[in-house]
Amino acid sequence: MTTADSNSTDFVRAKVIEDLAAGKFGQRVQTRFPPEPNGYLHIGHAKSICLNFGLADEFDGTCNLRFDDTNPDTEDQEFIDSIEADLAWLGYTSSSETKYASDYFQQLYDWAEHLIEQGLAYVDDQDADVISAQRGGFGQPGVESPYRNRTPEENLALFRGMRDGEFADGAKVLRAKIDMQHENMQLRDPILYRIRRSQHHRTADSWIIYPTYDWAHGQSDAIEGVTQSLCTLEFSDHRPLYDWCLEHLDLPHEKPEQTEFARLALTHTVLSKRKLAAIVADGTVDGWDDPRMPTLSGLRRRGYPASAIRAFVDKIGVARTNSVHDIELLESFVRTELNESALRRMAVLRPLKVIITNWPEGEELSVEAVNNPQNDSAGTRKVPFSGELWIEQDDFKLEPPPKYYRLSPGREVRLRAGYYITATDVTTDEQGNVTEVHCTYDPQSEGGSTPDGRKVKATIHWVSAAHGIGRTVNLYDRLFTDPHPGADGADPLASLNPQSRETLTGAMLEPALGDVSPGQVVQFERLGYFAADLDDPAVFHRTVGLRDEWANIQKRRQAG
Ligand code: ATP
Ligand code: MG
Repeated sequence: MTTADSNSTDFVRAKVIEDLAAGKFGQRVQTRFPPEPNGYLHIGHAKSICLNFGLADEFDGTCNLRFDDTNPDTEDQEFIDSIEADLAWLGYTSSSETKYASDYFQQLYDWAEHLIEQGLAYVDDQDADVISAQRGGFGQPGVESPYRNRTPEENLALFRGMRDGEFADGAKVLRAKIDMQHENMQLRDPILYRIRRSQHHRTADSWIIYPTYDWAHGQSDAIEGVTQSLCTLEFSDHRPLYDWCLEHLDLPHEKPEQTEFARLALTHTVLSKRKLAAIVADGTVDGWDDPRMPTLSGLRRRGYPASAIRAFVDKIGVARTNSVHDIELLESFVRTELNESALRRMAVLRPLKVIITNWPEGEELSVEAVNNPQNDSAGTRKVPFSGELWIEQDDFKLEPPPKYYRLSPGREVRLRAGYYITATDVTTDEQGNVTEVHCTYDPQSEGGSTPDGRKVKATIHWVSAAHGIGRTVNLYDRLFTDPHPGADGADPLASLNPQSRETLTGAMLEPALGDVSPGQVVQFERLGYFAADLDDPAVFHRTVGLRDEWANIQKRRQAG
């Protein structure tokens, strides 16, 4: 992993340096990436991954993948598998074998008994709604539960009864006994355990009580010896609770410290797993790995290089206040990477037939085309050429508007890597649509110039009709039309773009595109970057267009 240009001055790194200087955790730096396996990872998680694993790399520390699997109702092995695959794809490896909060259920339970014995936790018989109402709110007093003053003995017996199946789901909870008037709502006797008779994907039915996030997270950090526990800003309020829980336990290592950073947000993008799960479930997209999804597996299928995602995350840095980044910035990193790496190929998405009337009957030859002008070592290839070609429908106009320099009657253009052609005539169907363009070619213009040096104003791409291969190409638009889906409390799904995918089934591609490998990204000349599907390389997905929209946005902003 390259760290040369990483953001070495952000406040998280500054804090690690300070902690090391003070020897707060000796010379140890240990982080973790703690996803809940209730969905696929998205680009926001990439920020957390790059930060946690990046710190471990830079400071010679360790970082573990740990599944925060404390909610059996929504978690699944499919998610565990996808998260492990996505992490590997992004280029990171857990420092030790994958950890699971569920591995710590016994320790968490024992620590809960320890709290009860100290008089710091109690069993409450009230239901979730009552407990929630009694918490009060900002400036509103909390109400103490009538069960708050049970003795430790009574609480211990009841808590063991909860564990042993003596009570129905929801009949009782274990709560921390802190302060029902605390100005921080998180400290108003938060719930630590719930009864839930669900099959857990790892512990099956060995447990019917499950710890909450607040009781599992910090304790798991402490068990593993995490030093810096990094989470997103919405957990700031939980930090005093994180500390409170740990302060009352006998820990195997120094007490970990929680630090919050800004979550990644992107325009035209929703990063809530719950919302993403909803559009998977209702079939709006084909799955978590649909190329329109902001998930890592969606972006991978779309053709985003992992290195571009890492470079983007590095560029935006780590801050203490939330902000929204333009999706065009992410796309510009993708384009920059692909410009270096992608082979150039020709593909015609909406074909229109060109017939070269002076082409020698039946003759076929091949012309030489450059594979990547950014990289000489990518070499050249032979592209078959013949008297019947496909060109893009857009590249011909019977009545050209002003400043239209591509093909039109009487106009000469260059065929990329081929010859100059001049349109002479057309055939049309009954509706007057052009079905064929008849052209003549200049035999002296092979390779793109003529002995007399005459200039043409346009170069267009083409595919030999006899050699072209038919493929399906998916074009994508924003999944959400609103730049800020869900702003002002609206439902983000209300701005789903019904035209986010356009599938073209009649695209004609040059023969070299018949042997791309799954997932390979190529540039279709003049059209953009396209990825061969991971499962079916006869389907291509437009990764990103060629135009640098990020540059345009910046120009517009500078112009005010
Ligand atoms: P959601 O709110 O969509 O359910 P989450 O935060 O609950 O997401 P987790 O699986 O708990 O998802 O996240 C694992 C880690 O990734 C957490 O440490 C979380 O803070 C971090 N993370 C999640 N979303 C983002 C984001 N948009 N930007 C940065 N980090 C994120
Ligand atoms: Mg979470």
